[in-house]
Parts: sequence; C-alpha cells; structure tokens
Amino acid sequence: MIKLSFYGASQEVTGSCFLLDDGKNKILIDCGLFQCPKFCDIRSRESLPFDPKNISALFVTHPHIDHTGRIPKLVKDGFAGKIYSTYPARDLAELMLKDSTGVMMKEAKREGVPALYTEEDVDRAMALWEGKNYHEKISVGNFNVTLYDAGHVLGSAMILVNNKILFSGDLGNPSNPLLSGFEEVAGVNTLIVESTYGDRGHEDAKEKKIKLERVIEQSVARGGALMIPAFSLERTQELLWEISGMLKNKQIPNVPIFLDSPLAIRATEVYQKYYSYLNRAYVDQKTFSFLNLPNVHPTLATEESKKINGVPNPKIIIAGSGMSTGGRILHHERRYLQDPKSTILFIGYQAPGSLGRRIEDGAESVTLFGEEIPIRCHKEIIYGYSAHPDEATLFEFVRDKSDTLKKVYAVHGEPKSSLALIQKIRDYLGIPAFAPKYGESVII
Ligand SMILES: [Zn+2]
Repeated sequence: MIKLSFYGASQEVTGSCFLLDDGKNKILIDCGLFQCPKFCDIRSRESLPFDPKNISALFVTHPHIDHTGRIPKLVKDGFAGKIYSTYPARDLAELMLKDSTGVMMKEAKREGVPALYTEEDVDRAMALWEGKNYHEKISVGNFNVTLYDAGHVLGSAMILVNNKILFSGDLGNPSNPLLSGFEEVAGVNTLIVESTYGDRGHEDAKEKKIKLERVIEQSVARGGALMIPAFSLERTQELLWEISGMLKNKQIPNVPIFLDSPLAIRATEVYQKYYSYLNRAYVDQKTFSFLNLPNVHPTLATEESKKINGVPNPKIIIAGSGMSTGGRILHHERRYLQDPKSTILFIGYQAPGSLGRRIEDGAESVTLFGEEIPIRCHKEIIYGYSAHPDEATLFEFVRDKSDTLKKVYAVHGEPKSSLALIQKIRDYLGIPAFAPKYGESVII
C-alpha cells in the first residue's frame, strides 16, 4: 500500500511536489516554487506540509523552477537525504536555482521580507544531488525508481516508481528538433500526468516554422525590432537553431540576433556540453555550436546588453524572462512596445497575472519601471514552440498506456485544462481520471 499526496501543481501550473509513502520510506517527486502571481509566491514561504527530516530521497524531473524552486528551502528546513536527477538536469538546476535566488532576493527586498533562501542553501542542496543515467535503477528502501526521457528540456525525466507508478513531469513537444521526444514506458497502472495544454492544440513542426519565418519577414520589412520573451531552457535553444537554419538557407533577410540573457547563454553552454543527449537525427555534431552560429550575438555583460539599443533596427532580441516577469526583456519592452514598427512574439505559456499574459490578452498599456507604456507594436503568438505537448499528443500519451492503466491523475494545468483532459480520458478510454486538489491524498 502506497499513499500518494499532492502538494503542488494541483489544478494549477506551479509548485510541483508529490509525496509517496510506503509506510517505511517517504520519497518526494519534485519540490517546485509556487509562482503565481509573483515569482516567489506567498505559498512558497509557508512551511512544507510534511517534515523534511523524514523524507528519504527527492527525485527531480527537470530543472524548471516550478519543479525545483523549493529544494533549497527543503534542505534548509532539515532534509538530508539524496537528490537524484539526470546529469544535465543537475547542471541546469544549479544554474537556474542560483539565478532565481538573485531574482527572489530582489523581490524580497522590494517587499521588505527576508529572502526564502540564499546561494549557500543552493550549494548545500547541490552537495546532496547525484546525477543518474536514464534507465539506471535507483533503490530507496523498497522503492525502485527509474528515469525515462521526457523530451521536455535537456535531461528532463519521467519518473517510474516500482515499475508501475509513472510521474510524467513536464512532457516534451514531439515537434522539437533538438530532443528525441518522450519515451515509451510499459506496464504503468497509475499515471500522474501534466496537463498544461489539456484543452488546446498547437501548430505542428512545419506550420510553426512557416509562421516564425513569416513573423520575422514582416518584422524586418517594417524595419522594427522583433522581441521574443523566451524561457532560457529549450525555447531559446530551439529558436536559435531554427532561426540560424533559416539564415543559412537564406529564407529570411540577414539580421542580427541578440541572445540577451546571461542564464540562457549559460544554459546553452550546458546544451553544448551534453551534446549526446540531443536528437542526433537532426543535430550535426560538427557544426553544432549554438553560440557560434552566424549572426548570433550573446550579450553576457550588462554593458553589452545596453549596446543593443544603439544597433539600428531591424533586429531580433531573444531575452528572458519568458513571461516578462523580470529580466532584460523588460528593458526592450519599455523601448519597443510603443513602436508601431516593432513586434512582440509570444512562443510560450503565459501564466495568469504575468505581464506577458496581460499583453497577450490585449492590454492597451502596461506599467514598466513606474512608467505607463502604451502598446502599439504588433503582437504575434506561436503556440507550437511550447515545450509541452498539445491536447492531442497528451491524450495519445495516455492512450498508449491504456492496456495497463487503472487510474490517471491530471496535474500541472489550470483547472479548465486538467478537467478537459480527465473528461476525455473518462469518455474515450473509460479509465477513472481525476484532477486532485492541493493536499489531497490517495492510496494506490
Ligand atoms: Zn517544465
């Protein structure tokens, strides 16, 4: 008998955290930050709903902060077990956690509250963190755990417990040319599946590329700046890959591309280090080096970033954060949102309450650095660059396991997405499916 408790990402998209308890040992799957509406939302500060000292091990699906951001707090509060993920996920998590510590400190200072944790807490967490290979068996008491490729970001994993309980983590979008997509996992009877796009379709690989090409061409023809708020992991690398391919094949005019995000530049270096994890069918090792791609200008230092302003349009600026909740993109938005020749292109999920979501939803103006900025630029959206599968792919992922599946729990989605997915699973597959709420526990 195993008890499964949902302590985050339950009818929402952030704060992923699940606890398994077999009576002897307790293990956690992810320990993410609640990030809606603030970067470090107030719920992230509450004490954890279990005693961290009693947790034997933590398994991490992938390095995004909504899956890892409370790990240093977990350690600070007494967790002393082992942390496991793939090797690239470990390296990327260290980068992401250190970066977000800085963001959280600034946020805490603005609000006059203590920071959730410091870089030293991140270092203490990293000291407990072990890299593992996909398919390697990991034992914790009577728990047997194996990591499978989730195809979401470099080194992302689905976590299979006792050969039958599968946590999907965040799944990848199979149209991503850099990763190999999610693996088949057989024998699953309990599935905890993400449902970010449980109610929406995406453009396919060809469509999204054509759309991107059109957006770039139009933006260059108008002579404006093309701003792409991008998540530092995966979206940025995929965009660099696609745009540089278009430049090489002369499909788009010759324009400079600024990669204006220190975190994205560092993450791109990790992609280069773990080349073997990429989809070799597409990626040619000899020519593969994102940061040396023609026309790509990584601007690591603040001074270099400031110089982008002086470069005449047209130009492409890829900068974080992906939902415009912070980062250098805000400086470019302050300058170009009001320019009718410029364009803002959304390529990823924009959470409710974020600045990106307000612009996406058609706000006429936004406040940036205390200044009201009217929005006069063009606005484009391409969902196909999402790092998540769309509704149809997600359903297929579940259907492929329907022979052995007994129960499905949809997590990591806004209520309408999770509920749409479970309804479809009940109606078409006849499998009991649920969208648990925070704090719920079930026996499996
Ligand atoms: Zn993710």
